[in-house]
Amino acid sequence: DKSDKTLVDTNSSGDNRSSVLDRVDSTESGEDGGGQGLSWSRVNSMSIKEWDIPYEELQFEDRIGDGRFGSVYKGNWHGDVAIKMLTVDSQQTDQTSQLQAFKREIAMLRKTRHENLVLFMGACMNPMHLAIVTSLCKHQTLFTHIHLRKEKFAMNRIIIIASQIAQGMGYLHAKGIVHKDLKSKNIFIENGKVVITDFGLFNVTKLCHGNRKGEWLSIPPGWLCYLAPEVIRSLQAFNHMDLPFSKASDVYAFGTVWYELLCGEWPFHGHPSESIIWQVGRGMKQSLGALQASKDVKDVLMSCWAYSVDERPNYSRLLKTFERLPRKRLARCPSHPIQLSRSAES
Ligand code: ADP
Ligand code: MG
Repeated sequence: DKSDKTLVDTNSSGDNRSSVLDRVDSTESGEDGGGQGLSWSRVNSMSIKEWDIPYEELQFEDRIGDGRFGSVYKGNWHGDVAIKMLTVDSQQTDQTSQLQAFKREIAMLRKTRHENLVLFMGACMNPMHLAIVTSLCKHQTLFTHIHLRKEKFAMNRIIIIASQIAQGMGYLHAKGIVHKDLKSKNIFIENGKVVITDFGLFNVTKLCHGNRKGEWLSIPPGWLCYLAPEVIRSLQAFNHMDLPFSKASDVYAFGTVWYELLCGEWPFHGHPSESIIWQVGRGMKQSLGALQASKDVKDVLMSCWAYSVDERPNYSRLLKTFERLPRKRLARCPSHPIQLSRSAES
């Protein structure tokens, strides 16, 4: 009986989630209906069914766009929602374990309740129609503000936006969730409020079409500049997307968003992918010579982009830094013409 399926939440750090969910999965397959698992579940459990949205209940409206996972639709399910349909790769050999990975990632999402994180509402777990349903963001992404509309933000606004991103990210990390895909396209500005999307979903892309060409990972444009050196270095050895993402690699990506806010463009703007991989993998950073900003502002970049994982700050430290920053000056990169980089735009 499906209603017996439970997800046991024993440890909010998330470190135990595989073993806990393996237990759920083995319980599902009838291998372990044992008493210990059930007593856990009595204490602290959540039925996966609560998050399973029947596909038939979703009303699809316009297609908003396509991304790494598949298509995103505006839809209706008890009001406006965003429906992220995952295109499942039928060539994929290990679909069962990947469906379990999907369920694991969904199980993490349900723990997220923060005003700077998109509201996770549920998922369709039918293997034919895998979809994630979240609240609909009605405004623009930070990417659109910065790279398409070419808006310039005053320092005051930059600090408010960065602080809200840091608050949402700090919350995720406290819950043991690594975002793995923090970028300006996954940050909406809804009436001045930051809403971060797509956290913890990166591994779901294992289920999807179009991310691999043979043994090679195809690199989406505009993605490389968010990848920490340790992630870049393992791109070549890429194996089933097991890239070494961590809280520290999320902080590196945050550094890139901070740079975008300050400069209106991506670091390594205009450089070909091979050159970015070569430079970042060897610990080189975007030069800040042209950035007219205080040392404290630049130090945020340098510390987030530190080559050594241990040297990168955590979000509470970043938030303390932001509280101290003077808010008056407009940060500018005058010598960098603000234009879209073909290599970084999609
Ligand atoms: P990417 O993040 O690379 O843009 P996605 O698959 O996440 O790719 O998104 C595809 C499109 O759907 C983008 O235009 C994105 O802004 C939009 N989108 C994603 N999530 C939401 C949401 N919750 N509300 C509104 N639009 C969204
Ligand atoms: Mg996205």
